[in-house]
Amino acid sequence: MTQRPIYLDYHATTPVDPRVVEAMMPFFTEHFGNPASVTHAYGWAAEAAIKQARATLADAIHATPEEIVFTSGATEANNLALKGVAEAYFGKGRHLITVQTEHSAVLDPCRYLEALGFEVTYLPVQADGLIDLSALENAFREDTVLVSVMAANNEIGVLQPLAEIGACCRRRSVLFHTDAAQALGKIPLDVDAMQIDLMSMTAHKVYGPKGIGALYVRRRQPRVKLAPQLHGGGHERGLRSGTLYPPQIVGFAKAVELALAEMPQETLRQTTLRERLWSALRQLPELYLNGHSAQRLPGNLNISIGGVDGQALLLGLRSTVALSSGSACRYTTLAPSHVLTALGRSEALAYASLRFGLGRFTTVEEIDQVAEAAIATIQSLRQAALGMKG
Ligand SMILES: *Cc1c(COP(=O)(O)O)cnc(C)c1O
Repeated sequence: MTQRPIYLDYHATTPVDPRVVEAMMPFFTEHFGNPASVTHAYGWAAEAAIKQARATLADAIHATPEEIVFTSGATEANNLALKGVAEAYFGKGRHLITVQTEHSAVLDPCRYLEALGFEVTYLPVQADGLIDLSALENAFREDTVLVSVMAANNEIGVLQPLAEIGACCRRRSVLFHTDAAQALGKIPLDVDAMQIDLMSMTAHKVYGPKGIGALYVRRRQPRVKLAPQLHGGGHERGLRSGTLYPPQIVGFAKAVELALAEMPQETLRQTTLRERLWSALRQLPELYLNGHSAQRLPGNLNISIGGVDGQALLLGLRSTVALSSGSACRYTTLAPSHVLTALGRSEALAYASLRFGLGRFTTVEEIDQVAEAAIATIQSLRQAALGMKG
């Protein structure tokens, strides 16, 4: 049997924590009822579990249970937030503000809205990946209805200043949405303190199951109006129809509960491992850190490497370590990462990049093995490149 490579792609997805699996199990078999069945005990048991999960999730972000709308994940939550607000506030204005480094699950709905006649401002970022708050201030217009800025970037791990952005939006009575897919369970999130009006979440980035997420929708001060994008039985107070999926929802809540309880220790542990990896790698010349050095997710290290071909680098490493370059779709599109080019990286350095995503099950031995393999691969590729030139 061949050994599987070390998993350092925790930004793409995470394994489900065994404690989460255990919490989910009874809801596949014993408590299989439809939570919308109000006439019998099977339905009540499922409904009770969902009620509890909803309260756990709401507590985790300082919201109320009525403000949680379950979705299939962050992609759907982003679509519901952006299209739902654009449609509901159509009479008030048609301008949205977002950022060039957003996930495609925000950028693509924005492009779709542009095709329908909305106008979208895509803010640039500074060299460290953070937005410039004065650029945001200047982007507001009379007809701006929504600002969407992600909490943590999925490629470079950069944490945007949510509270400052929230304050800025609230002063102008403009709604603030944040895609918190990478941030939930990794950094503290408080929708009140940060003045967030809508927030997208997903379970599978935080050791929960795939296929479940939620959109937080503020109900008071201000009460956010949202046009539903999935019509049907009127589930989730009419905002998102479709039978709720108890095992996934129970697992989602358990995953978030565990992540919050373990956040202080995990932040410290992953930051230490990340710094260990970076200290080993940076002994090589021409290595560049992508994104702010401190204002980032504990488990993220994204680097560009001079003098090597990005594709050869990934090929050389793939039997040792499972990771991705800055951009997940470069093999199909052969375009450099839009995030790294937004930082001002040259095309060559945007191509020759590695995203290390560390997580709950990453060990110090794994980090040392990966560092050794990466150094050897970079050195041999540089040697080969020199040979070809000479
Ligand atoms: C993973 C991710 C998404 C998509 O989430 P799904 O639940 O897989 O749909 C959206 N935004 C960000 C920032 C992500 O990292």
